[in-house]
Amino acid sequence: MRASGATESADPRPTPPRDCDLCPRLAAFRAATRARHPDWWNAPVPSFGDPAARLLVVGLAPGLAGANRTGRPFTGDYAGEILYPTLLRFGFARGTYAARPDDGLELVDCRITNAVRCVPPQNRPTAAEIRTCRRFLAPELEAPPRPVVVLLLGRIAHDSVMRVLGLSPRAFPFRHGAVHDLPDGGPRLVASYHCSRYNIQTGTLTAAMFAEVVAGIRDFLDTADIARRRAAVGRR
Ligand code: SF4
Repeated sequence: MRASGATESADPRPTPPRDCDLCPRLAAFRAATRARHPDWWNAPVPSFGDPAARLLVVGLAPGLAGANRTGRPFTGDYAGEILYPTLLRFGFARGTYAARPDDGLELVDCRITNAVRCVPPQNRPTAAEIRTCRRFLAPELEAPPRPVVVLLLGRIAHDSVMRVLGLSPRAFPFRHGAVHDLPDGGPRLVASYHCSRYNIQTGTLTAAMFAEVVAGIRDFLDTADIARRRAAVGRR
């Protein structure tokens, strides 16, 4: 049966059903992978973390033998080896990352999602697939409470978030380290090269460069906390 779109789970944001077939190529790829690896997740990978978190991290898509196998974003992916230790270092996670969904790792004031929820062949979703899966990305940005900071990993996540927010990607071109504060209570957008194997192994992104981006987000949120506490004291 054709998926109608969204289903509700314990998470207040709509999440795709396991058999979502809105992208026929990706549904067929999932089915083929399931036949080869019936013990893998092989379904849309749900977001991870508190829906009320102030930091939302948006990646590209699950890796074939990583998040598509484990069912948790970036878990088992090469990029998870950079992302999770950095989140732990800057207080956006606690516990130990062991590349398994049962490693007990918890995100702290942080949530992780992907622009495309299903694994694409060769890690390359088509423009139509990115557009189709945007219906599941949009609530992550628009449903209250909205994130305060959105960390955009790579150009595809960047451009898809821009589209959700009704902005032209040309208005805020993708650039590593770029920061855009949106008006009218909108989130701060922070762009980074994706912490993919390719970017790390080619030196496009280093762990230090990525840490610098996340450190900036930590400082921004901590400063906002201090300002809020000062305002609360002033009201007494
Ligand atoms: S990528 Fe998104 S819209 Fe497409 S089949 Fe998967 S969950 Fe459905």
